[in-house]
Parts: sequence; structure tokens; C-alpha cells
Amino acid sequence: MGYTIRLPPDVILRLAESSSGPIKPSGGPDDHHHHLKRGYRALGALTGGHNPYALLTGEYLRKEQMTMADVYFADLRARGPHDSRSRKIRRLFEAAGFGAVVRPGDLVAVKLHVGERGCDTFINPIFARQVVEKIKECRAHPFITDTGTLYAGSRMDAVRHTVTAIEHGFDYAVVGAPVIIADGIRGGYWSEIAIGGKHFESVRIAGGFLDAESMIVLSHVKGHDLAGFGGAIKNLAMGCAPPSGKAEQHVGRPLVDLDRCGGCGKCTRVCPQAAMTIVEGRAHLNPEHCVGCGDCMRSCPEGAIEFDWTTEIRPFIERLCEYALGAVLDKPGRVGYINFLQNITPDCDCVPWSDAPIVPDIGILASTDPVAIDHASLDLVDSQRGFAQTALARNHAPGEDKFTGVWDYTDARYQITYAARIGLGDASYRLIEL
Ligand code: SF4
Ligand code: SF4
Repeated sequence: MGYTIRLPPDVILRLAESSSGPIKPSGGPDDHHHHLKRGYRALGALTGGHNPYALLTGEYLRKEQMTMADVYFADLRARGPHDSRSRKIRRLFEAAGFGAVVRPGDLVAVKLHVGERGCDTFINPIFARQVVEKIKECRAHPFITDTGTLYAGSRMDAVRHTVTAIEHGFDYAVVGAPVIIADGIRGGYWSEIAIGGKHFESVRIAGGFLDAESMIVLSHVKGHDLAGFGGAIKNLAMGCAPPSGKAEQHVGRPLVDLDRCGGCGKCTRVCPQAAMTIVEGRAHLNPEHCVGCGDCMRSCPEGAIEFDWTTEIRPFIERLCEYALGAVLDKPGRVGYINFLQNITPDCDCVPWSDAPIVPDIGILASTDPVAIDHASLDLVDSQRGFAQTALARNHAPGEDKFTGVWDYTDARYQITYAARIGLGDASYRLIEL
């Protein structure tokens, strides 16, 4: 408990080698730990002043002895007066040890998705208020936060995002904390965080998360057409990245609808790569120059630019997990996760609609391990009997994979496999019912 980040030894040793030369094989455990320390120092230098070595080494070595993470679960039955979901959230906060995650004086990022305009199955703001009040009881200072989208919509910049949040009830009067968008007005507030991953040496994390000392991540568990499902890992990965970081995960490229393009040239002016030009009165993309940042799409007043989201599923999930790792690397032991298994819709809250849930409401989970809590969430969803006459086309029986029953080409459980492999958390969990 109280542990969040663990980098695998091979990543740390590679960082040590990149900073101070090749490591000679020696075999002794003391030398191994010495090289780990060198790696953590290199990591500290790369992360611009944060010192993961000082924070992580002891935790990492202790974690080597652990094999299972605790996940606390509250079902939705009321067993007495006042036994509400709000009350359960407060009990979960305490049971999962979030009182040690949040310390007096902390700025605490309460990361959640306020829902795209048109969606109404996002996390209830009243539930966020319970978390905010518990954080205040810890004498810390919470703020509600998220980042701008890659696509054009009601959360594409901080102004529209804040208005959408208020329209959906994430107002100070309801949640008791301000909404502060973490990546700045137009997604330009972020820093590179070194992770030494397979796909990324470093990832782009929104500055608002790096400014916070601790974080409570509230995730609505639901389906997703690429990731298979969205839980804590995806909330960290996409949710803590500015639009340019989201583009790195998607590896998408814009597509111009020439029938809608009026040739105004706005996209050419915002493109940092001069990849968009006007040819015969219409926008034209040079794909060799494009880095997939999405600025052109957000700038287009005609909605003429869309992204090609087509990508290979497993590499996409690996990029997602590496981003999630970067999002919490500076906060060992300082991140708590609450997953809401209710309104389990086929699509994520980024879509401007809300489809019927594919399984019954199940309950609420809390843990300090994002991999364990997502693994437990998947198992609980799959244990349900799926609803007929919904987007669930197959796999209705208890025990069958529900999210591939909706998106048959996806591989939701690969999030768990790869996230555990890179040290984001434990795939093994112990479910503790309140
Ligand atoms: S995605 Fe970014 S780099 Fe590519 S054309 Fe659009 S603005 Fe330019
Ligand atoms: S901003 Fe939109 S309408 Fe204007 S040139 Fe670019 S694609 Fe066309």
C-alpha cells in the first residue's frame, strides 16, 4: 500500500548506461542496486529537477517483495439508512489509505472526465464532491482537472472545456473545488517526462499535473473503440497528456474534407510544421511534414478536418500505457484511484451521446495501484450477464469478455499485461469488500 510507481530494472539500468556509460556485468546484488541508483539519478536529471531516486529507491526495493495489490470494493446495495454511493466513496477513500496519499498543504489534482457536451453518463459531480471534501479533511487543496482534446469539440481548449464542465455540474457550488484545465488555454502547458520506454524515451505531461503534489484519479469504466475499455490507465494516459501527447499515442494524421473546406487558411497558419498549404483554394496536407499534433483540426472553423484514428491496436495500447507511466512518475505513493463501475456504456465519455449500458451497475473500487484496479474492474464487468438489445453483440454470458463483445477487434486486457510489464503497477490483486 502507499506505492504507485515501479520501473522495471532493465529500464533503470538503460538510463544508467545512457547517462554514465556501459555497465560491466558483475552479478553481485550490491552492484545491481548501485546501478539502479545510477539509473534513478539519470532519471532525476532527465525529469528536470524531480529526484525519483530519492523518492523511489526504497519503495522500489520493498516492492520487489510484493506480488499483489489491494483493491477495495463497495457494491451498490444500501444496507441501512444513509448507505448511499456518496457514503461509500468516503469509506473507500479511507479504506484505501488515501489519507496517506494526500498530505497537508498539497495541491491535489482531482483528475476526471467532465464529459463531452451531449454525453450524460460521466461521473456524477456529487461523487467528485465527496472526494474533494475528504481531501480538504486532509488539510490539502483540491482542484478538478483534465486536459484539452485532440479533436474539435466542446473541450478543445480551456475556455470551452471549463464552460462544458460547469454545464455538467462541475461548478464550485457543486463540487467545492475550482476547475483548472491542466494543459493551459490551448494545450501548450506541458513538460517532457523521461520514461525510457519501448515507444517513447519521454512523454508529454500537462503542467497542471506536474504542479500538483498528489492526485486522486476518478475513472468512469466503460468501453472504448481502440483501447477496448477506459479505466484508470487510459484516464492517466490520454487524460494527463496535452493534445500533442494524445496525438503521439494515436499516431494519427488529419484528413481534409474538401467539400467543407472554404480555403480560409487558418490551418496553415497554426501548423507548426508548415505541413498544411492552400492548393487551388483548398487545404492540402503534406504527410511527410505532419507530426499529428492536431492544431489544424482544432483551428478549422468549418469542421473540415478530422483525424484518421486507424492504428494497430496493440502498439496503440503500449503507447497508452507508457504515457500512463509518465503521468505518475513524479508521484510515487502519492496517487489514489477510484473506478466507478456504473453506467458501463459501450463508448467513452468523449462521444457526444450516451448509449445504453451493456451490463448492470456493479459498484465502486479504490486502490493505489492503477493496474490492479483496472484488472479488478475488467473481471467484475466480465462476471456480469450482459444486457440484450444493447451494443453488446455477443459474449452475454457471465465470464465472457464484454468489451470485445462490443468492439471485437480490440484487446482490453492487453492494457493490464503491458502496464504491468513496464512497472506501472501489479496485475495481481486482492479484492477487499467493504
Ligand atoms: S496535425 Fe499538426 S503538424 Fe499535422 S498538419 Fe495539422 S497542424 Fe500541421
Ligand atoms: S482551416 Fe478548415 S476551412 Fe480553413 S483552409 Fe483549413 S481546412 Fe479549409
